[in-house]
Amino acid sequence: MKILVANLGSTSLKYRLFDFSNDQERLLTRGGFERVKDYAVAIESCLGELKQGGWIRDEGELAAVGFKPIIARGISGCVKFDDQVLAAMEALNGVAPAHNPPYVNGVRLFARRMPNTPLLGLFETAFYQWAPEAATRYAVPAGWHEKGVRRYGFHGASHKFIAERSAELLGRQDVAERARQLYVNGGQSPVSEPALRVISCHLGGSSSVAGIRNGVGIGASMGLSPQSGLPQNNRVGDLDSFALPFMMRAAGLTLDEAERQLCQESGLKGLSGGYNDMRDVLAQAAQGNAQAKLAVEVYVHQARHWVGAFFLELNGADALVFTAGIGENSAELRELICRNLDQLGLALNSAANAQVVHGQEAVISAPNSRVKILVIPTNEELVIAREARRFLLKTNLN
Ligand code: ADP
Repeated sequence: MKILVANLGSTSLKYRLFDFSNDQERLLTRGGFERVKDYAVAIESCLGELKQGGWIRDEGELAAVGFKPIIARGISGCVKFDDQVLAAMEALNGVAPAHNPPYVNGVRLFARRMPNTPLLGLFETAFYQWAPEAATRYAVPAGWHEKGVRRYGFHGASHKFIAERSAELLGRQDVAERARQLYVNGGQSPVSEPALRVISCHLGGSSSVAGIRNGVGIGASMGLSPQSGLPQNNRVGDLDSFALPFMMRAAGLTLDEAERQLCQESGLKGLSGGYNDMRDVLAQAAQGNAQAKLAVEVYVHQARHWVGAFFLELNGADALVFTAGIGENSAELRELICRNLDQLGLALNSAANAQVVHGQEAVISAPNSRVKILVIPTNEELVIAREARRFLLKTNLN
């Protein structure tokens, strides 16, 4: 069974092709296109590359195309795209203006090009479906809640990968199996005591921290929108809601302009005075740029804030995991986030932290650390392909 996973950005299309045959899962090939002007052309080029490479004879050989959509009103989990799902996504365009519109557009174009192939989406919110209600409610009037204003949490595919993989690395096959079956049986698979408690830090162009108990997400730093939680590359992160009306009145901003500034001129970029890539921010900080230094400090402060929140919620932790572009590659950021936590049972092995090899898993805690500190390269596409396959098997769509 061959499943294509397509990652749709506003001007990019990245893809990976997986094969699930003979009880094995294999990544056959991957590729992508940047600066895409015409999405239909990019889809054609993607299918062309798969055929030219001999990976598929024709698109009929694809059992499904899997996607990683962000959010839809009233819909989560792994679903087959249809007009109703796309309309539910469009209903929340305003919550994810950088993500939802290109996804809806891309999925429509795929549907036009491949009308007979199931197009499946694993929503980024899906991982938190079983979070306690108290962790998902904002204290807003009921009418706001009914419109969909609540905490959702994102980066679900990545945090789910960490839930599975960390459980394997910690020798808890029972929890790994529960995490694998999460969307099929709602996290009900039996696991033995004690509970496995993992805090997952997905730190990248966009960042979130999630709490995971026995393979199930109990909450995340991102709330209603992917603009919340930690400062993002150019998106704001957490902000008191009254900053918006205050600034609109004080600076005469229109709603559109205020939204643009929060979505495009904020986060690391806003703090550092223009640098939205953490590598540049760190380099500037090292050269003495005070704004960049502050940007790093704010980012670290926020990351620690959320790690602390889940440490309490989980009654401690068995593992603190770093993943994604920053989490996997920046020893400096990991060091800053883990500093001075020995009284909580977290002790970093600085030498091991400095020696992490790009793309490889590593244990970076000291031998006496009660909490294991791990680096695990994430694999969101694999999670999507696996869920798409389970969906096909469950619904006999294959
Ligand atoms: P996304 O998919 O959200 O864009 P990634 O997980 O690919 O994010 O992470 C990309 C980000 O990771 C880059 O913007 C960069 O800031 C950061 N990054 C990559 N390598 C390093 C590094 N060595 N040190 C610090 N940050 C890094």
